[in-house]
Amino acid sequence: MHTKQFIDLRSDTTTKPSLEMREAIYKAEVGDNGYSEDKPTIELEQYCADYFGKEAALFMCSGTMSDQVAIRCQTMPGEEVIIDNSYHINYFQAGSTIDLGKVSLNVCHTPDGILTASVVKDAICNKFRNELLIKPSLVCLENTINSLGGIIFPFEELEQTYQFSKEKGLAVHLDGARLLNACVATKIDPKKYTALADTVSICLSKGLGAPFGSILVGSRDIIKKAVRHRRWVGGQLHQSGFMAAAALFAIQHNITRLAVDNNHAKLLATLLYEQKDNPLGINLSMVETNMVMINTRKLGVKSDVFAKACQNKGVLLYPWTEYNCRAVTHLDISESQVRVAAGKIIETSLQITRGE
Ligand SMILES: *Cc1c(COP(=O)(O)O)cnc(C)c1O
Repeated sequence: MHTKQFIDLRSDTTTKPSLEMREAIYKAEVGDNGYSEDKPTIELEQYCADYFGKEAALFMCSGTMSDQVAIRCQTMPGEEVIIDNSYHINYFQAGSTIDLGKVSLNVCHTPDGILTASVVKDAICNKFRNELLIKPSLVCLENTINSLGGIIFPFEELEQTYQFSKEKGLAVHLDGARLLNACVATKIDPKKYTALADTVSICLSKGLGAPFGSILVGSRDIIKKAVRHRRWVGGQLHQSGFMAAAALFAIQHNITRLAVDNNHAKLLATLLYEQKDNPLGINLSMVETNMVMINTRKLGVKSDVFAKACQNKGVLLYPWTEYNCRAVTHLDISESQVRVAAGKIIETSLQITRGE
């Protein structure tokens, strides 16, 4: 598939490096990061530690690697991690969590993905606990919540969940793959969010537009452990500076752009919602960042059938669940492309309704 011919709304991971980013990659003065001699990687880690207000940061190959290493650093094998059903660490990484994280997941089923203090409390108390039985040691949170269409974890709830978790002696990891999309939407300083977690992972290869990588931030002690665990999973990087230079460019230049992506998602949702009887089940109040969930149930087709029909018209969507397609706006999508895509998606839905 030549994706150039398509308006690609499957994910914000599909962005290609810009000319300026390629120049930054070209000019990177690399060395062996295994010997701490790779300048761009060191610079990226220092920059991110400062930017997110933590003592240290570590460049990772992927968000999954960041999350799993964060789990390993803050648990013993067999311990319990409290999480919501909808979070990536459960939804996509359940296998990794067994194999690499080596913990068991205590999965909560909230309607909105918000692990409030009282949900965490119930998760602790819904089992008999004594020293011989499994011990909860970590709470994993997510912001924005990918599976629920990029909704934002409310700040006050985050404060309370963090405080409660600390009172119970639990560590907190925030999967902030798209945390910066939340920050530009709420205008809350990233440091305020990161202060409410012991470790935070942030994807560089999503809305920020880098080709590769994620950053894990936390205390000096945890990051020291993380260096070892990253190596154990084959993540010791050598001339990583080419990718670090791209990531540094991304975080220094592309954060304000996330607000445009968020607005584009609102525009897309609004255009789709304006159809009579809202046949695509658009919930405008759920469009808080750069995603739109399109529900195909009213059309009587499954999400993969709908996505295929849209593909035939030049728009790529990601079939997320049986009846939900996800559309994500990003750096490589312009406002005019949003308008064209909305038109094509509407055209597809009308054709399906007419039985064509
Ligand atoms: C994408 C994503 C990840 C994993 O990132 P990869 O780089 O694809 O491994 C983790 N958590 C969330 C919420 C994500 O959206």
